Amino acid sequence: MSSSDGNLHVALLPSSGMGHLLPYLRLAASLIHHQWSLTLITTHPIVSSAESQLISTFLSAFPQITQKKFTPIPLDSVAANITDPFQLQLETIRQSAHLLSPLISSSSPPLSFIITDVTLMSSVISVTAKLCLPNYILFTSSARMLSLFSCFPSIPSSIPKESLPPILLDSNSSFTKNFSDDSGSLKHFNGVLINSFEELEKEPLEMLASGNLTKGLPPVFPLGPFLPLELERISLLAPLKWLENQEESSVVYVSFGSRTAISKEQIRELGNGLVLSGCKFLWVVKSKVVDKEEEEGLDEILGHQLMKKIENNGLVVKEWVDQWQILSQKAVGGFISHCGWNSVVEAAWHGIPVLGWPQQGDQMINAEVIEAGGWGLCMKSWGWGSNHLVKGVEIGDKIKELMGNQRMKMECARISEVAKQRSKAGEGCENMLKTLFQSLKKS
Ligand code: UDP
Ligand code: UDP
Repeated sequence: MSSSDGNLHVALLPSSGMGHLLPYLRLAASLIHHQWSLTLITTHPIVSSAESQLISTFLSAFPQITQKKFTPIPLDSVAANITDPFQLQLETIRQSAHLLSPLISSSSPPLSFIITDVTLMSSVISVTAKLCLPNYILFTSSARMLSLFSCFPSIPSSIPKESLPPILLDSNSSFTKNFSDDSGSLKHFNGVLINSFEELEKEPLEMLASGNLTKGLPPVFPLGPFLPLELERISLLAPLKWLENQEESSVVYVSFGSRTAISKEQIRELGNGLVLSGCKFLWVVKSKVVDKEEEEGLDEILGHQLMKKIENNGLVVKEWVDQWQILSQKAVGGFISHCGWNSVVEAAWHGIPVLGWPQQGDQMINAEVIEAGGWGLCMKSWGWGSNHLVKGVEIGDKIKELMGNQRMKMECARISEVAKQRSKAGEGCENMLKTLFQSLKKS
């Protein structure tokens, strides 16, 4: 973009959880590259240690970014009937959205536009509309999910009803109400930014661009693949050292992201499955939703017997790992993932076939992107997270299938090559930002 775009001032408003914060900060870095001024709105108290640490490292690395601290009126989790602290945080922000008004209007120089997290849409749009401030969405999921989101409560024919999370089929749930309200507010936004790209999601992106899905859908800007920042590197080196000593494509990496707790019973079945597969594995175990609450040791979670069996086959950790670096190691040949969208894009970039085991939310729909692309499996028969116990034998068999499938490896290598070319040239993102800037001038 030309230097004439240099005096734009953009505010970024993430909601909660690393899966939302990471793409925001990755996007922020490319906007800074264009000399745009940025204000990052952070909500306090911050839910997880992972988020607090990342925010402070990010702000130290980019001192030119202004931080605006937002402290919403606390909500009582019992009264709100929300147990997940990340969900509670976003509901808290939603209900205090009116308090954002003075914070936004006092920005200096005045804001050119704001980028709002998808989960806050309907609560923030009334605030920014009053201030006549253009508002773009960062949609932190797949274009396939966006196609559902854009016409909800209708369901596009490309998406089986069973792929919707059960909570979304309950029209009385507050999740469904927010989802519906957010979807309904879509036409009032100036555009949708998304971490995807043509070769990863050709059909959904074409469908969205055709305008056939929903009337009045604002333009969609596929800016992906988003790349990690140097500052995301962390010092836990044991997994990387261990991987260096393993054979090429021999290791299956297992992680369910930053906020999915798996029951102890299912963790043990998964452990047995990994051992039965005969493959080496690097496994990140998570038994609590929020990192601060992880108190039990691995011995207690896995049990002594399983710990013994695992000893010679794999490495198990409980800490936050550097997933990007792990996926970039030659030894990694497969990924068991819950299919959070960031993980899907990261696996695509690195060319790692995925055994998709969706647990909640948008994850089944994201896993279908992988399945449709022929570079992984979507385990529909394993049900949704906690409502189904999948036995070790079955898990072991699927891991063998994943690790031995040459066709999936080839498809994955092809997508990876395109993704890398895109990020090297920066062309996709560059052109999209140019179009975004033009759309802003018109608004
Ligand atoms: N991640 C990581 N280390 C961990 C757990 C997660 O680096 O130990 C990163 C992962 O690479 C991804 C993000 O955190 O970028 C998780 O986002 P995703 O959408 O995959 O899932 P969520 O955590 O939101 O369910
Ligand atoms: N979503 C939304 N409004 C909400 C909550 C969710 O629009 O208040 C949508 C959004 O597309 C999100 C998806 O539902 O990506 C799944 O939400 P969930 O909270 O399960 O997962 P997350 O994306 O936070 O990991």
